[in-house]
Amino acid sequence: MDNMGILLQLYLLFSKYQIRGIFKIIREKVSEFDLVKEKFQEVFEVLVKYRDDFILEEVVDILWSRCVMVVQKEVKTEEDFQKFWEETFSGKEEDDAKEDLEVKDFLRKKILYNGCLNCTERKCKDGAQITQGREGMRIRATAQIISLNGLVNAAAGWLGTVDEYKSPVQQKYCTQSGVNYNTQVSVRWDGYPQYLAFIATAANIVYNCNEKKK
Ligand SMILES: [Zn+2]
Repeated sequence: MDNMGILLQLYLLFSKYQIRGIFKIIREKVSEFDLVKEKFQEVFEVLVKYRDDFILEEVVDILWSRCVMVVQKEVKTEEDFQKFWEETFSGKEEDDAKEDLEVKDFLRKKILYNGCLNCTERKCKDGAQITQGREGMRIRATAQIISLNGLVNAAAGWLGTVDEYKSPVQQKYCTQSGVNYNTQVSVRWDGYPQYLAFIATAANIVYNCNEKKK
């Protein structure tokens, strides 16, 4: 073949179909995966770990709905959930009690109330001011927000994730400016690797359950 243009087009076409084929295979595998009790811990840990992964969103959604359906048959009350939690996560290494409680609360809401994957509420709070956050929760700005250190600001419509949620308001030390700020929600700003922006209140920050980052 002596036409480089055609050769490259063929390559693109080939890689495109190859990737689609792989996606399809993985989706099928996830849909057929044998969800037995012995595998719950592993599956739920994977789900929690990748709950906010944009690329895996489709397969994670499939797995969530399958898991919730299976578990909901036996877990209908708070007592049931407590039992399920102890059985499923017994023997789990206690690395971080706070993180553990967050995961527990997240699963509790998902299983008992089948809530939104982002805000975890049954009646999705998309667009409402944040009252209960968790790490990784998608948020957006409804008006311009300026970090208290003044170094960064974001326009209305900015999309991000909660880096850390503190309720009630707590003091947070900003390494960039060397000052303590009262903060409720601290977020990781797009394009900034460090935590340099802290928000004093969540007034301009709302749940962002529907819009996805492109
Ligand atoms: Zn929601």
